[in-house]
Amino acid sequence: MLTQNLGYPRIGGQRQLKKACEQYWAGKINLSELNDVARKIKEENWQTQADAGIDLIPCNDFSFYDQVLDTSLVLGVIPQRYAPVLSLVKTNSEIDLYFAMARGYQKDGLDITAMEMTKWLDTNYHYIVPEFTAKQEFRIFSEKIFAEYSIAKQQLGAKAKPVLLGPVSYLLLGKEKEEGFERIDLVKNLVPVYIEIINRLKQQGATWIQLDEPCLALDLSKKDKEAFDYAYRAIANRVSGIKLLVATYFEGLLDNTQLAVNLPVTALHIDLIRAPEQLEEVLSLIPDNLQLSLGVVDGRNVWKNDYEKSLQHISKAVEKLGIDRVIIAPSCSLLHSPINIEVETTIDPEIKDWLAFAEQKLNEVAELKQIIAGNLKLLNANKTSIEGRRASQKVHKQTIKERVAAITEADATRSSAFPIRQQLQHKRFNLPSFPTTTIGSFPQTDDIRQLRAKFKKGELTLEQYESAIEQATVESIRWQEEIGLDVLVHGEFERNDMVEYFGEQLDGFLFTKYGWVQSYGSRCVKPPVIYGDVSRPQNMTVRWSTFAAGQTDRPMKGMLTGPVTILQWSFVRDDQPRDVTTNQIALAIHDEVLALEAAGIGMVQIDEAAIREGLPLRKAKRLHYLDWAVKAFRITASGVKDETQVHTHMCYSEFNDIIEHIAAMDADVITIETSRSQMELLHAFAHFEYPNEIGPGVYDIHSPRVPTTEEMVALLTKAADLLPARHLWVNPDCGLKTRKWPETKAALENMVAAARQARKQI
Ligand code: GLN
Ligand code: ZN
Repeated sequence: MLTQNLGYPRIGGQRQLKKACEQYWAGKINLSELNDVARKIKEENWQTQADAGIDLIPCNDFSFYDQVLDTSLVLGVIPQRYAPVLSLVKTNSEIDLYFAMARGYQKDGLDITAMEMTKWLDTNYHYIVPEFTAKQEFRIFSEKIFAEYSIAKQQLGAKAKPVLLGPVSYLLLGKEKEEGFERIDLVKNLVPVYIEIINRLKQQGATWIQLDEPCLALDLSKKDKEAFDYAYRAIANRVSGIKLLVATYFEGLLDNTQLAVNLPVTALHIDLIRAPEQLEEVLSLIPDNLQLSLGVVDGRNVWKNDYEKSLQHISKAVEKLGIDRVIIAPSCSLLHSPINIEVETTIDPEIKDWLAFAEQKLNEVAELKQIIAGNLKLLNANKTSIEGRRASQKVHKQTIKERVAAITEADATRSSAFPIRQQLQHKRFNLPSFPTTTIGSFPQTDDIRQLRAKFKKGELTLEQYESAIEQATVESIRWQEEIGLDVLVHGEFERNDMVEYFGEQLDGFLFTKYGWVQSYGSRCVKPPVIYGDVSRPQNMTVRWSTFAAGQTDRPMKGMLTGPVTILQWSFVRDDQPRDVTTNQIALAIHDEVLALEAAGIGMVQIDEAAIREGLPLRKAKRLHYLDWAVKAFRITASGVKDETQVHTHMCYSEFNDIIEHIAAMDADVITIETSRSQMELLHAFAHFEYPNEIGPGVYDIHSPRVPTTEEMVALLTKAADLLPARHLWVNPDCGLKTRKWPETKAALENMVAAARQARKQI
């Protein structure tokens, strides 16, 4: 029996790669210094994996920015617009071209946009989307994979296993950049390059190659399925004497099982964390020679593996296939997992014992193999931890479980229907038409960040800290009044992050010091860990909201993060369904909403930025998710008086396929991002005749550019063509925390002027 790993975090335990890349971009270090950092990370990663006893160790999983972009470079898929960069940069050409594709190029009189970035399936990792043209050509361009294999081989010998995104998923995850062709048809041109790559790696000495085909676990068209069949048959015809492993993850194979198990390759990897039920069917359909890699250690979450559960899967497979045809592995690349729990010194030791990060996950894979070989001591030690967690008072709070179990439909329904609420709210707030507001945060300047940092380090007393935050809040309120905004916000100066701020105040959450995970390029996030039943020991936002409300006569929105967003941006429990955890958070937020209302706050915004990104990969599972996600939001928003106005905000607004669920959230006001699409995204709302009030963002907060009043009036005119004018609000696309004050002020002044003009004209 072999063990393998599919990919390892490449940011480095101290985020060395992030720092080195950013220094390189700033011109502070040169290419060879950058390469030194990269080389060290790779060598350390390989050593760690070898020391853990992993038999097949990935190489070429390292990337300076993104592995999909690496694949584009290997395959020579370089959009035409980068040709000038290619001819300009001579010495460092490849890496500078590469970074230009990732980040855009504004130098030497050139201004070339970056390639598009999107979420890697249902993870929070973002990849660079390949761009294809009708006459797309493919050729080996970058030598990275060969160079990387060659140094990995020096260090690891036969254990080194090059990893590459497979041809069909590579095409499916890209995008057509012209009309008149389908990218999947490019498979015939693409496959010969894969054959060349595989044969070269073989000549270099590779014995195994891993081809990632996550799309095999998605809904596929007939044509997509044929492409898989074609590609792997064509490859099998032209390569021999090398073992190919096709890796799938994040979902089950389901209707693609037959296709997947019959691909002419040596081994297939399946994810038994996300889709344990698929093992049965895969084993019943598997042909005689195929080896099966079992993803039994969760690559996307932080929990210690339950060996007993894993061993059940492994034994089942061994029984059917024999021990030599079974491989043990993490469920997916460990890219999505923090690196090492051992370095965390501030976590409660009882809870720390339940956690496993990338380094520990490697050990788990190796230990499972040893247990199969008879080392039962390891099994018993694991049982103790697992049982400890299962029974711990720190996890289980009976009153919370009972409260969740008792939730009824009525707990998720406002007392009156929207038209009645709307009338009462209009009477209460007496706002002009096209009321103006913002999404919540104002610029997080260096001063504000330092304030929080100093307070955390104990360099400021609570009084000093709070008085400085109060000052920033008051200034922002005075300024909002001066420019004439109708509904104010407190500015969120006291918040580090919209999830962390709440997680830190809720029971059942813990925070790591170094638990970073790559989000995109050099950007890393440190998600909180939800380990236990969630409750709210005390008010979370009332102090700052009432302070702010007391500074003005205008309505002040309370500002909360919604349950699905908190769930989605955390590591979650694997010992209960996601919807149960979400409902626990929903009740906590619900209590906070009521506390705000009782404290006199008349408007409360509950941000659900991540509701769309929680959508399951497979269409058949989406309805169930939307039902509980929407209900969780409704729980937070129900129980308040009719005249209390509930707002929600969502960042991405491609809601075509889920608009009825967005409407079912029944927020009195929703603010969304629409300006970059010139209100295109509003069509779904118009078509559905969205019944409640809506603030389509009139300017893009992602850029420092200050929009003109005329532009925003034009957007409002468009919006008023699509939806009743009396339902429209005027606001930016999102919060302003990443902007600087000068552009924020100028843009919001213009926005208020645009609303005033709209009131006259529309
Ligand atoms: N209230 C948050 C803010 O303004 C919302 C941010 C978000 O939707 N991502 O920053
Ligand atoms: Zn937003």
